[in-house]
Parts: sequence; structure tokens; C-alpha cells
Amino acid sequence: MMNKYIGKHKNELPTPSLVIDKNKLIYNLELMRDLAKQRKVNLRPHAKTHKCSQLARLQLEYGAIGICVTKVSEALIMARAGITGVLITSPVVSFGKFAVLLKVLDLAPDTLLVVDSLSNALQLNEFCQKHGYKLNTLLDIDGGIGRTGVSLDNAIEVALAIDKLSNLLLRGIQCYAGHLQHIPDLAERRIKTHEILSKAGTIKRELLARGLNCEIQTGSGTGTFSIDAELDCVTEIQPGSYCVMDQEYNNIEYKETKFSPAMTMLTTVISTNHATHVTVDAGTKALYRVATKPFVISHPDLQYDWDGFGDEHGKVTALNGAKLPDAGEVLELIVAHCDPTINLFDYFYITENDVVVDYWKVDARGCCQ
Ligand code: PLP
Ligand code: MN
Repeated sequence: MMNKYIGKHKNELPTPSLVIDKNKLIYNLELMRDLAKQRKVNLRPHAKTHKCSQLARLQLEYGAIGICVTKVSEALIMARAGITGVLITSPVVSFGKFAVLLKVLDLAPDTLLVVDSLSNALQLNEFCQKHGYKLNTLLDIDGGIGRTGVSLDNAIEVALAIDKLSNLLLRGIQCYAGHLQHIPDLAERRIKTHEILSKAGTIKRELLARGLNCEIQTGSGTGTFSIDAELDCVTEIQPGSYCVMDQEYNNIEYKETKFSPAMTMLTTVISTNHATHVTVDAGTKALYRVATKPFVISHPDLQYDWDGFGDEHGKVTALNGAKLPDAGEVLELIVAHCDPTINLFDYFYITENDVVVDYWKVDARGCCQ
């Protein structure tokens, strides 16, 4: 059914649709691979962004040592697709989810899981003992969001306790400072991220000095990976959005070349009865709503806004006296926030030179358990 679009121009796709320009995607994967190599850090990209095992496989082909996921249900999709080096970046705490974890470990025993409390570590240890697994774990340290992670003050104590457990293998730490990723100014972002990640690095050094096998320090998104990698303590980065990009990340300053906006959304003008605006067929069911607006890359003097048009429609106005588009015209947008937008779609259409060449299933879509 999707095959019928292969060979067609992207503007013939049903809208709204998500499109990935393959050459731009590869450009981003190569840029990230090369930057990680230059900075001597391992790359384990976060699949929470794309939720697509085919894209994850491509990331492995382009130098990644593994793939991050947030939830154990996503890990299972990736493990079933043969993705190796999976790191689950949020704690797994309930017994129902331990059962899913077991399926993941059966397929991919090298899977890593973060732990952020001793009680969780004890439960996991008992579970792994019962099922004969040695589970690779990272101690999750709060990078200042207050979301998951032990405090810096408690980190050593919890790490030492985990290290004593027979069936958990402590391999390192995770410290992710998500609240710093979008600070527009690079210098300010650098000061703040270096402050917290160096403190986490001190903890890792202390654990190594006490003889623990605690080699990994991971964290870092698209906004900080390059500056985080300036620190010797950081051994691994887990950026997500860089592969497809979005308008929130387009708006910040980078140390190196910007990533290319590889993913866009196509939307069609469906009503033109007003002098002030036209209506398109993508609303909040297609474009996850945030403060930043999507950018109309096909028509830079048009502006998209949700503006009360609800789930199914968007409002497009003209800037600087530009002409409004006609009914039936297709507009191409850089989405505001890539991850939750992708989670609204079943497929990416893949294009080369604006022609559809393939489609990839967003197979971990909706896996928020
Ligand atoms: N690591 C963790 C733990 C995350 O939660 C996220 C995103 O929220 C990322 C990495 C990837 O970040 P980004 O999409 O900003 O590159
Ligand atoms: Mn995001």
C-alpha cells in the first residue's frame, strides 16, 4: 500500500506526512560520527527521537557503539530488530517490567540499564539472581533536572552498595543535563554543563580509585555533546535529535557546523476563504505543540501557527506582505520538536532529490511503557 508512492515526487504524498531526506540524514550521521571520533568519545545515539529500528541500524553503521532507549518496551523492539549495545536510560522498577527486561536480556544480554536507588538495585539483583543473569548497570546521577538520578551527595554510597550485589555489574555512571540542552548561547551552555558533568566525573574518579570497574560516563544531548566531550571524564555521548533535527534545535548556537534539517512535514492548504490566512491539514495531532513554531522551509515568508485551530488544522499567515498560498499547495515545515511529533506517525517516507525512495516504520512508536 505504501509502495505506490515510491518513485513519486514527495508533494504527491498524502498529507500530513513526515519525510526524511536521506542525503541530509546521512550528512548528520557522518558529522556526528566524525565529531565523536575527533573528540575520542563513544557514540550511543538516543532512539527516543526516531523510535525506528531501521534508523537505529543505520546509526550503528555510521559509527555508533549502541543505541539508547528510555523505556524497556522500546528496548524490546530494538533487541528484536537485532540492535546491539542497548542502554535503557531511565530506571525500570516494577515486576511487570522486569518480565519485559528478561525478554530483552534473552535477546541482548549486553543491555545496560540505569539504576538510581538502592531499593531498585536490590530488587533487580534478586530478579537477575533468580533468572541467572548478570546485568550491566550504570548509576544514574541527577544532572540538575530533578527527574531521575541520585544526588551527587549520595552517589558514592549508592554506587558502592550496587557494586557489592552479586548479579549487578556496575559499569559506570550516567549524568544527563536535559535542562541545559537548549540554552541558545554556547558559552553559557558550556559553563553550566561543564560544572555539573565535572562533578559527576569526580565521582567516577573516586569510584575508580576505590577499585570499582566504573569506566563509562554517559549523558549529553544534541545541545551539549560537543562541549561535554571536551571533558576527559566524559567517555560516551547519547544525542538524539541531531539525526533529523527540529526548529528548537535550529535556534541554538553550535560549536561546529549545524546539523541539517533532514526531516520535514508536508501539509496541504485546504481552505482559503480569508484575506488574512489560509488553513492547512496539520494541527496538534500531526505537530506536537510547543512554544516554538514550526518553520515553513518551503516558503520562508509564510508562518505556521496552531492558534486555536485545534487537533486537525493549522493557520498559515504571510509575513512582509507576501502572497498567501492557494488551495492544494503543499507546504514543507521543519517541525518544532522532533521526538513527540514523530511519535504521532506510523511511517517516515524517505526521499532522495525530493523523490520517494522508501518508507520506514516507526516501529517503537507509542512504546512509552
Ligand atoms: N539522553 C537522555 C537521557 C534524554 O532524555 C534525551 C532526550 O530527552 C537525550 C539523551 C537526547 O537528547 P536530544 O534529543 O536533546 O539530543
Ligand atoms: Mn526532545
